[in-house]
Amino acid sequence: MIDILPINTQKTDTSRLESVDFDHIEFGKVFSDHMFAVDFVDGEWQEPHIVPYGDIVVSPANSALHYGQAIFEGMKAYHQADGGVALFRPLDNWARLNVSAQRMCMPEIPEDLFMQGLKELIRLDAQWVPAKPGSSLYIRPFMFATDGFIGVRPSFSYRFIIFTCPVNKYYTKPLRVRFEQTYVRSAEGGAGYAKAAGNYGGAMYPSKLAQDQGYHNLIWTDASEHRYVEESGTMNIVFVLDGKVVTPALSTSILDGITRRSVLALARDMGLTVEERKVSSVEIMEALAAGKLEEAFGVGTAATIATIATIGYEGQDYDLPVAPATAFSHRVRAALDAIRAGEGADIHDWMVRV
Ligand SMILES: *Cc1c(COP(=O)(O)O)cnc(C)c1O
Repeated sequence: MIDILPINTQKTDTSRLESVDFDHIEFGKVFSDHMFAVDFVDGEWQEPHIVPYGDIVVSPANSALHYGQAIFEGMKAYHQADGGVALFRPLDNWARLNVSAQRMCMPEIPEDLFMQGLKELIRLDAQWVPAKPGSSLYIRPFMFATDGFIGVRPSFSYRFIIFTCPVNKYYTKPLRVRFEQTYVRSAEGGAGYAKAAGNYGGAMYPSKLAQDQGYHNLIWTDASEHRYVEESGTMNIVFVLDGKVVTPALSTSILDGITRRSVLALARDMGLTVEERKVSSVEIMEALAAGKLEEAFGVGTAATIATIATIGYEGQDYDLPVAPATAFSHRVRAALDAIRAGEGADIHDWMVRV
């Protein structure tokens, strides 16, 4: 077990902070000065380090590159109204990383190692947390196999890294999406509930076909019947149907999103009825025709709430009604934004100070 000592830290002597134009940052292209790294060797996590952000060396026979033992998380730190920095639900990300690790035969990471590494890294690069409303520091923890061995079996060695990227408000024009009825992202019994690298590689081709047809994203449906809604792109999906908040129930083919969880909790706080159940594409299209589909939106860390304006179904596009200012999606976005900025009452204790 690792004692809670300060993490061995090698600070950069050439900070890139001054060269960054915080008003014009493209998502995922600007990286903060430092990263946290720790290796797993001989059945144990070794001494962790914080080092300048930079390239890493791996064997050409690295088994993550060949067989995909690679998992990740996505989370954010927010500048607080009082000048501090806080993380949104980091323990949920830690727990989910370990769920993914178990599915991929990778070692779990202890809570104290994850949290200490995360907090010390964010404290060191605190000036990289943008203060402008709507902006945040995107955090990417990830783990991959490091054995240089070309046989198909779980690696014996792994590396866990955390790096961060300042990001601006994620602009989404209302989305055009369509039901996917040929390809699948994941099947029951597969690894869709894990944030495992291969799930995303496999989704790129069907997503590209949809983009070539003018859609931003797909609505994935179940693998056996292409009937029940799963997710939209890399977001969970939520509908407001006849006054109720409805979302597909979790399964082994759906990613258990932390934004989804938060949106459902806030809906319950607002006294709304929440249903986590099977939702078919037919039910959605019938509700839309009957004027009972009030709202549809994607939910995830990057965009928070991404409004869906148009749904493609069997070759035809259907427009959703424009949600009024009092709509649930607007209220829940505002409530989440306030909690994250340290301006709204955090009754669920979601925020963790660094
Ligand atoms: C990460 C992810 C989500 C959203 O999860 P959050 O924890 O809310 O960011 C949804 N679906 C997929 C497939 C994802 O990878």
